This record gives sequence, C-alpha cells and structure tokens, in this order.
Amino acid sequence: MELLSIVVPCFNEEATIPIFYDAVEKIRHQIDADIEYCFIDDGSRDGTLDILRDLNKKSGGVVHYTSFSRNFGKEAALYAGLKMAKGDYIVTMDVDLQDPPSLLPEMWHILHNPDNDYDCVATRRTTRKGEPRIRSFFARLFYKLINELSDTEIVDGARDYRMMTRQMVNAVIQDSEYNRFSKGIFSWVGFHTKWLAYENVERSAGETKWSFWKLFKYSIEGILAYTTIPLYLSSIMGILMCGVSFIALLFIVIRAFAFGDPVAGWPSLVCIITLLGGLVLLALGIMGLYIAKIYLETKKRQIFIVREKK
Ligand code: UDP
Ligand code: MG
Repeated sequence: MELLSIVVPCFNEEATIPIFYDAVEKIRHQIDADIEYCFIDDGSRDGTLDILRDLNKKSGGVVHYTSFSRNFGKEAALYAGLKMAKGDYIVTMDVDLQDPPSLLPEMWHILHNPDNDYDCVATRRTTRKGEPRIRSFFARLFYKLINELSDTEIVDGARDYRMMTRQMVNAVIQDSEYNRFSKGIFSWVGFHTKWLAYENVERSAGETKWSFWKLFKYSIEGILAYTTIPLYLSSIMGILMCGVSFIALLFIVIRAFAFGDPVAGWPSLVCIITLLGGLVLLALGIMGLYIAKIYLETKKRQIFIVREKK
C-alpha cells in the first residue's frame, strides 16, 4: 500500500482541528492508500497542542505532530511538515477547511492515473467571495506586479493546497532558503502541474491569522525573493535622471549666454533637489531591502525550532 501524507500547519486552531480531522476521515475510504497526518503546531497559544497530543494517542500512529518553540510563520510550518512527511505522495492543506477535503480523492486519482503524466495537482480559487474588497484588490495587484517582474510564474488565486509526488517534495525541501515563499518555490522547482479550480470557501471556525500588514510584508517578501528587477529599476532611474539633468544643464547654460542671468529659478531648484533626493532615497531603500534579505540568508538561521515531536 502506498502512503499519502497530509501536511497541515496550525496556529491557534483548537476550534478547527477536530472539524478538519472528521472531514478528512469521512473521505479517506475513497483513497486507496494509507494515510498519515503531519500536523505542525506553529507555536499556538491555545489548546491546539493538547488536541494534537490527544489525536496522536487515539489514532494509533496515524496522526503525527511537530510543535514549534514559538510562532515561526506558515512558511516555516509548511517546510517542517514537508520534511517530516514520509509519504510517497504528500498534500499540503489549511486546517480551516478553506481547502476542501472533498477534492482529495480527485487529486489522488489524477496523480495516480498512469495515463496522466503529472507530478503535482495544485488548486486555485476562481473567486474571492467573502473576502474584504480591498484585500482582493491588493491581492490582484500583487499577482499582476510579481508576474510582470519575475520569470517565475505565480498563479493568481493559487492556494497552498497541492498534492505532490515524493520526487517533487524532495526538490522543494532541498531548497532550504530562509526567506521562504512557497508559491514561488513550488513554481520554481518545475515539474508537471495540473490546476484544479474551485470557488472560494469561507473558514469553518476561528478567524484568519493574516492581518493586512502581515500580508503586505509577505507580498514584499515574495517580490524580493523572486525578482531582482527592482534593483535594475533604480539604476535605470539613475541613468534617466542623469540624462534629464544633462539636458537641463545645457538649456540653462545656453539661456544664460543668450539672455543673461536673471535671479530667478528658486522654486524650480527646490523641486529638482527634492525630486532627486526622493529618487536617491528610493533607490537606496530598494537596495536596503535586498541587503536585509542577504543578511538574514547569510546568518543561516534555523527555519524553525522543534519543541515536541510525535
Ligand atoms: N498558519 C500558521 N502559522 C501562522 C499563520 C497561519 O501555521 O503564523 C496556518 C493556519 O493555522 C491555517 C493556515 O496557515 O491552517 C492558513 O491560515 P489562515 O486561514 O489564517 O489564512 P487565510 O486563509 O485567511 O489566508
Ligand atoms: Mg484560511
């Protein structure tokens, strides 16, 4: 019998874990494989760990968990989960049922059918129903921007809900970078991916762990990790500004020769200085962002720290 690992990051999810577990148990007979659960407790401060300990005891070795020493973020949790999974096939999903378990059998059959030459079945939402308007707006903007700037394609609405072969997961965990952006890594490693689309489902219980600010930082992370074009941008801006100021210089010199030098031009001078100052700061800021990432990467910090594992 083959083994399917279900990797589930959890952060303060005491309300949703039992619902999730029951929902998956209900459909598991439709999959002709053994199943193991790999829960990651991402430093939860509620009863999440107790529930996981309980499930581990009751299930007789089907439910495994890793508990972090503190909250390391979903990316770290996913990485830990992929590392602990032993399955021939591995699926990553959220615990709040926004990734419907009813898709699991279909994903399994697609991957398993020898006529299909797929290594991965990924999912994306076709709608953002039930999500705040501005959040959707900025999400769309982010996907537009990153796809414009980067060579790695990041699909709009792509979820971290995907089933992969062992081979692909090995490639993903080989990539041990500190600044992790899974959507980028999954796309970057390549392999043949089949996309399934579904309508957005709202969270079953509890509430979202992503504030607007957290998402904003995460999207900057994604852009920095998958493109260096902003760095070129500042050089291009510099060259452009040099060109413009050279032309302005010529203009001023010729004008001074032709018409003398009336004492004027104070406002325009201030405008030019502030504009240039702003551009220089912007360019410096962009470089600073990348240097910060290099700094963190060279420290070779651990991506997560385990406190308890079963
Ligand atoms: N999550 C996590 N660590 C975090 C934040 C979230 O492991 O720091 C998990 C969370 O428990 C859930 C998944 O990531 O299983 C998605 O989180 P959530 O549903 O809050 O995000 P949303 O669906 O609102 O984007
Ligand atoms: Mg959710």
